[in-house]
Amino acid sequence: MGLDSDFDALHGLACPAVRGTLARLPFPDRAFDATVCCEALEHLDDALFEPALHELFRVTKRYILLTVPNDENLTLSCRRCRRCGAQFHFHGHVRSFTADALRGLFQAVARGRVLCREARGIVPVAVFRQSRWLYRLRPEQIGFWIARKGARCPHCGFAGFDRHWRPLFRVWSLALKLANGVLHPVPYWRSCWLLALYEVG
Ligand SMILES: [Zn+2]
Repeated sequence: MGLDSDFDALHGLACPAVRGTLARLPFPDRAFDATVCCEALEHLDDALFEPALHELFRVTKRYILLTVPNDENLTLSCRRCRRCGAQFHFHGHVRSFTADALRGLFQAVARGRVLCREARGIVPVAVFRQSRWLYRLRPEQIGFWIARKGARCPHCGFAGFDRHWRPLFRVWSLALKLANGVLHPVPYWRSCWLLALYEVG
């Protein structure tokens, strides 16, 4: 059984699907032997986060499996809207998790009835450290709107980008990337995601 708040997303599912939200799951208590929640919790603000955890706990009979980004530095994916000045995360992430945080994730809502069996990094990739100073010079940090598909300010809806600036935008971004490569030439392995498995008592 799949769940999403968006009708279009549900059309892509091969299994039976229901429209709803994590903070209010349209299922009875302990309806499922196992629930899977991938790349969703990092999008939930304070008003939705604990209700969502409570709902996952409520509808699960045995196992809960979660994946979230690993210890994400949220500011590295922030953009500034050229029209209204608001800063926001490019993918809409509003919280970051560590493996330790996942181990105690259900403590507040389940009071010891959800045991963390495993919390570990997955999907290791080679990455380069990002210079903080060079990051502050990135085009989107000083007022140039990003050219990526789907970029839209969640506060005012602005999605514009001046096409005649595109060549300069690219050269600027490439120069910063090369400079960062000089400062931090050696990549290191880092798990992009965290996976946590819980058992409900
Ligand atoms: Zn805006």
